[in-house]
Amino acid sequence: MLYRTHLLFSLASYLFLDSLAGVNFKYQFFLIFVLSSFIPDIDHPNSKIGQKMRLFSKVLNKLFSHRGFLHSMILPLLIYFIFVYIIEVNEIGLAVSLGISSHLFLDLMTKNGLALFAPFSNRKINGFIATGSFLEKIFCGILLLIIIYLIFYRLF
Ligand SMILES: [Zn+2]
Repeated sequence: MLYRTHLLFSLASYLFLDSLAGVNFKYQFFLIFVLSSFIPDIDHPNSKIGQKMRLFSKVLNKLFSHRGFLHSMILPLLIYFIFVYIIEVNEIGLAVSLGISSHLFLDLMTKNGLALFAPFSNRKINGFIATGSFLEKIFCGILLLIIIYLIFYRLF
């Protein structure tokens, strides 16, 4: 999925979780959540985030390959475990792991799919949306409507 789709999806999922929880998550939580949704694509030097740190991105791409370990369910679980049980910063751990999970959820919907248990299993789960396709644009439009609805829902 494209950068902007990940941005819209993380915004929508944040607003949705926020409305479900019935409490206002802090502003910092929101920022960390949305920024974390870009983390997995660091394994692709041509992605938006990969271009920002090309050398680091190339190293990670060589190590894990695109949509490898950094796109597996193990990453958010590992980060959650480290942040909550070792560093003991629960809210940051939750925000980062949820942000990454929102990215993974969206990439699961793509035709290329994801190997959720990489590097232990390379079996992929594939979706039906081609990255950059017209269908992705429609999906973006729907996300935008959901975001507008959820913002109004919060305000009134
Ligand atoms: Zn991705």
